[in-house]
Amino acid sequence: MEYTILRPDDMHIHLRQGDLLARCAPHAARVFGRAIVMPNTIPPITTSLGLERYREEILGATSGSGFAPLMTFKISESITPDDVAALKAAGAVAGKYYPRGATTNSADGIGDHRAVYPVLRAMEQNGLVLCIHGEDPAAFSLDREAAFLPVLSEIVARFPTLRVVLEHVSSRAAIEVVASMPERVAATITVHHIFLTLDDVIGELLHPHHFCKPVAKRPEDRDAVREAALSGGPRFFFGSDSAPHEQRAKECADGCAGVYTAPVAMPLLAELFEREFAPGAAAASAPGVADDRPEWVSRLEDFTSRFGARFYGIPLPEDRVYLKRSPWDVPGQIDGIVPFRAGSRLTWSLTA
Ligand SMILES: [Zn+2]
Repeated sequence: MEYTILRPDDMHIHLRQGDLLARCAPHAARVFGRAIVMPNTIPPITTSLGLERYREEILGATSGSGFAPLMTFKISESITPDDVAALKAAGAVAGKYYPRGATTNSADGIGDHRAVYPVLRAMEQNGLVLCIHGEDPAAFSLDREAAFLPVLSEIVARFPTLRVVLEHVSSRAAIEVVASMPERVAATITVHHIFLTLDDVIGELLHPHHFCKPVAKRPEDRDAVREAALSGGPRFFFGSDSAPHEQRAKECADGCAGVYTAPVAMPLLAELFEREFAPGAAAASAPGVADDRPEWVSRLEDFTSRFGARFYGIPLPEDRVYLKRSPWDVPGQIDGIVPFRAGSRLTWSLTA
C-alpha cells in the first residue's frame, strides 16, 4: 500500500554544526523539503553574515537533495532594529526567543522579556515570526511551560500584528492558551511529546534518549498534545524539535536534552493518524476531505505539509513523497546518533 503526500516541512529543527551537521542534516533532508532551522549554535546566529554562513554550511551538507533551510536568528538585547532588517534581507523568516538557561546553548538567553521589546517591535514591522521556547527556567520542571504563559500573553497583547509560534507545546495548559489566542498565534508539536510522558523518561529505568526540554509531562498533557495534533486545527502544526546529540553526550552523568526524531517522525505520525482515523474510530466522524485517499492521509498531510507553510506565509510544498506500508527496524544508532524508537519496528516508510 502506498500513498502520495506533499513533501513534509519541519517547522522546528536543530541541525547543529560541523561534523554533527554533516552527518545529521542529510537525514532530515531525505524526509523534509524545508525546515525552520534553530539558531542555538555556538556562536549563535545573530547577524546576517552568520546566518548566510550557516545556510551555506547546511546547503553544503545537503547538496543534491533540494532541501531548503528556512533560517532564523537568536533574539538578544544587543540586536538593533537595523540588524533585524538586515537579517530579514539575508533571508531570516523568524527570530527565536530562548529564556536564559531554558535549554541547550541558552546561557546567553533572555532574562527580562521587556528588554527585547525593541527587537520584537522591529520583527513585527518586518513581518518576521517570533518563535518562543516557552519555559520559565525558575519554575519547577513540570510547571515551567505553564509558568511562561503570562509572558506569552503579554507579548501577544503588546504586539498586535506579530505572528507568534509557541514551540514544542507539552502541556494541556499551553494548548488551551494558544487555542484561545488570535489566529496569528500558533504552536508546533513534536512527535515525542505526542507519545511520551515523564514515566517514559524516569518511570522505571532512566531513559536518556527520552529526555528533552520541555520535559515530557503527565498523561493528560500528552493526550492534549496528541488531540491538538489530530484536531485539524490549522494553528497546531508539526515541528519535530529533532535535536541530535552524540550518544556519549546523552548516556552520561550530565546528559543533554534533546530527542532525535528526524529519521522516524513521519512513520510514527503515519501510524498514529492511521490508527486514530481508522474507519469506526471515534475521530472518523470529523468532516471528510475531497480526495480519494483515506482521511488519515490527508489529515496527516495537513499537519506536516500545509498548516505550517500557511502560517508562515510560504508556498505549499511543490514535490511529493510516498508513504509506503513497508515495515522496517529502526537501527540502534544512525551515524553515531541514537534515534527515537531505536530497535523498534515501524509500519510505514517514506520514499521520494
Ligand atoms: Zn528546539
